[in-house]
This record gives sequence, C-alpha cells and structure tokens, in this order.
Amino acid sequence: MSLRLYIFDLDGVIYRGEESMPCAAETIHRLREEGKIVRFLTNNSALTREAYVRRLRGMGIPCEEEDFMTSAYATAIYLQSQGAAGKRVFIVGEEGIHEELRRVGMRVVVDPEEEGADYVVAGIDRDFTYDKLRRAHFAIRHGAQFIATNRDATYPASGGRIVPGGGAIVAAIATCTGVEPLVIGKPNTYSMELLLRQCNVSPQEAVLVGDRLDTDVLVGKRVGLHTVLVLTGVTDEEAVRSAPEEMLPERVIHTLADL
Ligand SMILES: [Mg+2]
Repeated sequence: MSLRLYIFDLDGVIYRGEESMPCAAETIHRLREEGKIVRFLTNNSALTREAYVRRLRGMGIPCEEEDFMTSAYATAIYLQSQGAAGKRVFIVGEEGIHEELRRVGMRVVVDPEEEGADYVVAGIDRDFTYDKLRRAHFAIRHGAQFIATNRDATYPASGGRIVPGGGAIVAAIATCTGVEPLVIGKPNTYSMELLLRQCNVSPQEAVLVGDRLDTDVLVGKRVGLHTVLVLTGVTDEEAVRSAPEEMLPERVIHTLADL
C-alpha cells in the first residue's frame, strides 16, 4: 500500500525555536507535488493554530489552520465531546490552550478558590509560578478533573539547546496533588486518531516523522503507522541504539532531505 499521508512533528523536525530545519520547506513542497497529504502534529500547546500557520508560512511553508493538530486543540475537542462547554476551567498554560478552550465554549477562571473549577488543564507555561501551582492544587483537591495536554520532559530550542517542556509543569501539579492527569497528547493515541479520522486515511497509509522516541515513535507504533525518526531534535543515534522495541523507528534519517 502506498503512503498517502505524511504527519510531521514540529519542534525538532520542522524548526528549533526560530530556526527552520534544513530542507523542511523543500521536502514538504516535494511531497505535496507528489500528491501526498501533509499534516502537522505537535504536543506543544503554547501557540494557537493560527500562530503556527504564521510561523510556518514565515519559513516558506504554505499551510492552513486545518493542517495542524496541536495537543491544545485535541484537548479542546476531547473536552467538548465530554460535554464541557460552559464548564469552568483553570488553565496552567499559554495562549494555545486558552484560545482552544474558549473556542469550545469553556469558561476560563482565574481564581478557583472564589469561582470554583470543573477542570484543570495544564501544559507548557513559561510564566509558571508558585501561585499558579497553588491554585491548580486547590482546584484539583476540591474535585476538578486534572487534564494534561502532554508530558514532554523537554523540547529542542534554537542554538542546539534543550529546555524544560510541559511535562515538567504537569509533574509539579501531580506531585503536590497526588493525582495523575489524563494526558491527551502523544504518546497517547487520541490526537493521532483524531487526525487520521479528519484525513480519512488508515494508519497503514500514513507515516509519522518525529524527533522523540517516547512520544512520536511510540504513538506512531501504537496506532500502527510507519515511523521515521529525524536526528535534528532531541534524540541522537546513541539513544536510538538503546531504545526499547516499542520505541524503535522503522527508519532513522539525518535531515528531512533524506525522506
Ligand atoms: Mg519534537
């Protein structure tokens, strides 16, 4: 069966911080010329889909909002399916989560102690403070459901740096509350399955191109897609050699030009 759908992770695959990865725009252009569907699947909940569109267009990659499945968008779709429209949510996160949850009609609260909260949704928050942790703790201890967009420990930034990811913030909330979150993003299969359904493509006809073994490759294999690991992100060849079977990609490439 030939491949119809190429799913790219963003951080460490298409760009690192502000730097686009070599050949990203050329490779995507070539795949589209060949008639392939191209989509982007990211655990990063910081940006809105609109902001991702601007960012990729700025890197010479034409795209639309519909081309992106973010962990924040998947979380909003999940909550909507649970009847969460009109419910109160306390957010530990950035604009991506705020925007997506507002779009499905959730009421964002600032102080769970005064306003109450039905849900706490957490992801990366680069303005994370002890006060936000205290509010999330209060809400969850008083019955709010704890949902995490993702648990990535780190993500690749520009200049070859690796920086703390949303998982570190989620872990702080899990530690003080003693409650483990429901995780929507990779390696859980929800966002991937949602994307496949939207494209009406079976897993066997799709390939996931990612830079993390414990999220990208693992979710790809769980859902039954072909998997390619690109070494421009957080994973090096040494880590691939010692990876457990369930995280072993079908192919390892140095840059997207090898795809
Ligand atoms: Mg990545």
